[in-house]
Amino acid sequence: MKYRTILLFGAPGAGKGTQGKILGTIPAFFHCACGDVFRNLTIDSKLGRTFVEFSSQGKLVPDEYTILLWRQNIEGSTQTGRFQPERDTLVLDGIPRSRHQAEMLSDALNVQAVFNLTCPVMEKLVERLQRRALRDNRLDDVNLEVIRNRLAVYENETKPVLDFYGPKLVHEIDATQSPIKVLRDILDIVAEI
Ligand code: AMP
Repeated sequence: MKYRTILLFGAPGAGKGTQGKILGTIPAFFHCACGDVFRNLTIDSKLGRTFVEFSSQGKLVPDEYTILLWRQNIEGSTQTGRFQPERDTLVLDGIPRSRHQAEMLSDALNVQAVFNLTCPVMEKLVERLQRRALRDNRLDDVNLEVIRNRLAVYENETKPVLDFYGPKLVHEIDATQSPIKVLRDILDIVAEI
C-alpha cells in the first residue's frame, strides 16, 4: 500500500522540523524527520559513520542508504503501532531531498500536498541555523562553511523535487512569519484535503 503523505519542504532553517513536530501531535498524523532518523543511529554502525561523514560536510547521504534506512524506520514504526498507515497521514520532513529520492519513493508515497516553506533572505536562514546549532547540539550547523554547503545542496539537488511533484500539489508558505502563522497557513490547506 502507499502511505497517504504530506511533505514539508524548504531550505535548512526554514522551519520544517518545528511545523512537523506540531503536526505530529494531531491525532491521525505521524511525523517522520529524516535527519532525526539519521541522528538516532549510533556511531559504531556503518550507516552511523556514513551519516557523520556526509552531514559534517553539509552533503546529502547517498540515496540508496537513505531510502533503505527510511523504509526500515517506517516499517519499525508500523510494527510498534506508532504509525498506523490505514489511519494516519504521514508528515515527512527532510525527505525526499533529491529527484532521484522522489522517484525511489514513488512506490511508497501517495503525496497529497507539498508545503514549500519559503524564506527569500538567505541570511535569515543562516542566522536560524547557527542559533539552533548551539541549542540542539547540531554540529553540522556550527560551521559557516558547512551551512553554506547545505544551502547550496538545497538549491542544486533538493529544489528540483518541487518540479517532480508539480504545481498542483505544491503550496507556497511564507516561512518568514511567526511559527503560529505558518502553522495556520498549513492547516488551512490540510483541513481541506
Ligand atoms: P536535517 O536535519 O534534515 O537538516 O538533516 C541533517 C543531515 O542529514 C543532512 O545535511 C544530510 O547529511 C542528512 N540527511 C537528512 N535527510 C536526508 C535525505 N533525505 N537524503 C540525504 N541525506 C539526508
